[in-house]
Amino acid sequence: MDDGSLRLFEGFRVQHSNARGPYKGGIRFHPEVSLNEVKALAAWMTWKTAVVGVPFGGAKGGVRVDPKTLSAGELERLSRTYVRAFFPLLGPEVDIPAPDVNTTPQIMAWMTDEYSHLAGRLTPASFTGKPLQIGGLAGRESSTSLGGVMVLEEHLRTLSRRAARMTVTIQGFGNAGQHAAHLLSQRGFRIIAVSDTSGCIMRAKGLDCKKLVRHKKAAGSVQSFAGSYPISPQAFLGLRTDVLIPAALQNVITKSNERRVRARVILELANGPVSHEADVRLAQRGVTVIPDILANAGGVAGSYCEWVQNRQGEVWTESQTHAKLRSRMVQAFALVHKTRTRHATDYRTAAYIVALTRVREAMNAR
Ligand code: NAD
Repeated sequence: MDDGSLRLFEGFRVQHSNARGPYKGGIRFHPEVSLNEVKALAAWMTWKTAVVGVPFGGAKGGVRVDPKTLSAGELERLSRTYVRAFFPLLGPEVDIPAPDVNTTPQIMAWMTDEYSHLAGRLTPASFTGKPLQIGGLAGRESSTSLGGVMVLEEHLRTLSRRAARMTVTIQGFGNAGQHAAHLLSQRGFRIIAVSDTSGCIMRAKGLDCKKLVRHKKAAGSVQSFAGSYPISPQAFLGLRTDVLIPAALQNVITKSNERRVRARVILELANGPVSHEADVRLAQRGVTVIPDILANAGGVAGSYCEWVQNRQGEVWTESQTHAKLRSRMVQAFALVHKTRTRHATDYRTAAYIVALTRVREAMNAR
């Protein structure tokens, strides 16, 4: 620590499957990280990489820490220590981490640098989600949300519905939530409420998302944004809206609050935001849930582009990345939609059918 004392932080890396390619998955810094949480997140990565057809397996990492309590120097030393601890298990052909909750491109830069020092050569393909200056991908930061938006648009297309003035509420206003707000408002959706750890705000006419992102950067929270008013988390969940986007953490819609939800569509940008019991009841009520392993797979599809770019020594433009992302997400959605129709089931079951089939086929082939 900066004061010269020594502190121990518990850290995890879980490798769930490498049947289809090297392990792949983010690293989360959060005070409530646990081994079971990281295991669940690692498994979801296996299914997610399979649904979007990128040649990776599934892994996840985490450190139990509140990064807001650390100085920049302490955060850097913690990030480098994580890489030293897990070095033998990582690498471009072994296991490639990326950012997740509370981990940033800067943290990926420290980690890539540490990995390269230990490996004795520059190894940009060892991590994804890096800053542009050291091999990051133009458009990677928004790829999770952009992939989700593309999937939502494809879903609406199957219903012949247009975005114009459709209402959206977003829980969580970090990387995933902010980009989703921005991209959706650009496309004519009306963002009527958002929330972060400080609370929830609403504006029925629609929030100016560009200004709200600036406000969040300056003030550190969404609270007190001009023209909005605060509402309770219960009221937030109960808002009548076309689309609800959980973009914070897991298990936020459970059997105890599912009844409140009045959205028609839930787009899971977060991993595991809807519990199994709530999922079953939402389906009975006719609420469409677009599952995490499809809805937020744009993040790992973007990471795949970054990994390929690094291994080929290329630099792609944002529009090249977006074109690759679009074709992958549209194909993934089409296959899940076809599977859903063929089996007369919901999107989540269909996405799992696609994913499990692909993993099983790889295991059989090997
Ligand atoms: P982030 O740290 O950038 O943002 C998280 C946001 O959630 C913050 O605004 C925080 O204030 C808010 N939050 C936390 N607890 C909350 C609560 N109880 N109520 C309301 N808001 C709350 O994280 P992120 O990268 O945006 O990730 C968010 C989710 O998306 C996670 O589940 C993550 O696993 C998933 N995800 C992210 C990516 C990515 O590329 N960033 C990719 C796939 C999935």
